[in-house]
Amino acid sequence: MKKWNMIIDVELCENCNNCTLATKDEHVGNDFPGYAAPQPLHGHRWIDIKRKVRGASPMVDAAHVPMMCNHCDDAPCVSAGRGAVKKRDDGIVIIDPQQAKGRRDLVESCPYGAIWWNEELQLPQHWIFDAHLLDQGWQQPRSAHACPTRAMKAIKIEDSEMRDLANREGLEVLRPELRTSPRIYYKNLHRYSKCFVGGSVVAMTGGIKDCVGGATIELRRGMDKIGVQTSDAFGDFKFDSIEPDSGPYVLVASQSKHGRAQVNVNVGSESVYVGDVVIA
Ligand code: SF4
Ligand code: SF4
Repeated sequence: MKKWNMIIDVELCENCNNCTLATKDEHVGNDFPGYAAPQPLHGHRWIDIKRKVRGASPMVDAAHVPMMCNHCDDAPCVSAGRGAVKKRDDGIVIIDPQQAKGRRDLVESCPYGAIWWNEELQLPQHWIFDAHLLDQGWQQPRSAHACPTRAMKAIKIEDSEMRDLANREGLEVLRPELRTSPRIYYKNLHRYSKCFVGGSVVAMTGGIKDCVGGATIELRRGMDKIGVQTSDAFGDFKFDSIEPDSGPYVLVASQSKHGRAQVNVNVGSESVYVGDVVIA
C-alpha cells in the first residue's frame, strides 16, 4: 500500500518560514474535527525551522532544517496514547482531538519535541501532514505548496520504493538511533548534523602571501585517508560530512611549485576552519 512521506532538501531551504506560516494559516482558528482542533495564535510552531551555523570567518555556512512531527511508524506517542493517538493506513499519525483531551503526558512521549500543548483546549497537538486536505485529494500539504524553493515535497509511494529512494539519494531521518522509523526524510542533512574541516592554502612569494589554487589536500585520520581535495582559485578547501567529536585528523597540503605543509586538527562538536595553511 502506498503511504505518505516527506522529503526535505536542507540545501534548498532558505529559512523563509513560508511552510510554518502556511501551516498556521491553515490551522490557527480552524477546527478540523477528527484531524486537529484549532492551533493557538501564539506559541506553537508545528513546523519549526532550526538553524545551524558552522565554521568561522571567513569560512562560514548556515543550514536551515524544517522540523515537525515525523509520523513515525514505531511512534512512542502512539504507544503512550493508549488509543488517543492513531496510525493511519497511509502512514500519517493523528492525535485524536477528542480522545487526547487532558493528555499533557503525550507532550513528553515524543522524543523529537514535536507535540505542542494547547493550554486553552487542554490538548496535545502536532503537525498532521494536512491529512484533512490529502483526504480531499490534495497532492501536497499546505507547507509544501507554499515552499518557493521546492525544498519540501510530499510523496506517496510503497515503503519498499521509499527505502530504495532513500538509499539511492542518501536521504536521512532525524535521530535514527531512536528506531522510531520516521516518514520525514532529509537530503543534505550533513549541513546540519555533521562538521567540516576547511582552510586556505597559501604560499609566501617575495614576502607576500599568495592564494594557491590547484593544491592537493589530503585529510588523514591515523593510517586512513579520509579524502582528497583540490584547492579552488582562492586556495580554499573544505572536507564535509565529518562526524562531530571524531577527534584528531591531519591535513597534508602540497603543490609541486610551492611545496608542502602538514596541520593537525581536532574535530570536536563544531566545524573547524584552520585558517591559512602555508606551504613551503
Ligand atoms: S515525531 Fe513524535 S509526535 Fe510525531 S509520530 Fe513521532 S513520536 Fe509521535
Ligand atoms: S518554505 Fe521551503 S524554503 Fe521556506 S523555510 Fe520552509 S522549507 Fe525552507
